[in-house]
Amino acid sequence: MTTQAQKIQWPDQKQAVIVLTYDDALLSQLDVAVPQLQRAGFKATFFLTADLNYNTIPRWRTLSQQGFELGNHTIFHPCLPTDDNAVSSASYTAYGMIREIDYMNDFLFAVDGKMRRPFAYPCAETLAGGKDYVDTLRKYGLSSYARVGGDTSAVITDFKHLDLLRIPSYGLDGGETGQQLIAFVKKVQQRGGMGVIMFHGIGGDYITISKEAHQELLNYLGKNKQAIWVTTFQTAMDYAMQSIKIK
Ligand SMILES: [Zn+2]
Repeated sequence: MTTQAQKIQWPDQKQAVIVLTYDDALLSQLDVAVPQLQRAGFKATFFLTADLNYNTIPRWRTLSQQGFELGNHTIFHPCLPTDDNAVSSASYTAYGMIREIDYMNDFLFAVDGKMRRPFAYPCAETLAGGKDYVDTLRKYGLSSYARVGGDTSAVITDFKHLDLLRIPSYGLDGGETGQQLIAFVKKVQQRGGMGVIMFHGIGGDYITISKEAHQELLNYLGKNKQAIWVTTFQTAMDYAMQSIKIK
């Protein structure tokens, strides 16, 4: 098999796929990002923690019914101790982390009724008690795919050698401009691959980009609808896996 043979033929002759992912169940996502996505006609993936309540749960449920994806981002968001992080992953075992992911899957089942969903590592860290837990997660089979972090080099083209529980993404630092986001999309288009963007706040909350920058990105994706497939994380990955299986 040549390297060429591994290249994915995206649906409807599209050049590339872009997956928009939003972490931490933030209100600015519901209030700002979602209306912009809905106006643009795009679906996206939201990696939720259990930081949900009587007010937001119905809103997330409605989004799921509209085709948005709710992914698992643990209950408490354990990661390495910092001042603004309430729960430290340092005191976890791998199995403790797996239990938490399992419970969060059940919680999300109560929200959207879905049996299978992707996962995103809190703080993009794969450590529990200082040890990598990716293989433990693999053993328990709780997640269809899992997203880690990365930078603008996170353009996925080799799906054959991709670890499905370490799928890289372009993790924003906050303050990126629309042009910077579009530059990443163009790179993904040139390489004919998949690009996953990790957002947090949109016009509010933290690790924020402005609502104008977000809109500018959506405008570019809208203008290039013929060339770029914008879909949810699991849908894009399922398509890619199915197409390498056929080859
Ligand atoms: Zn997070």
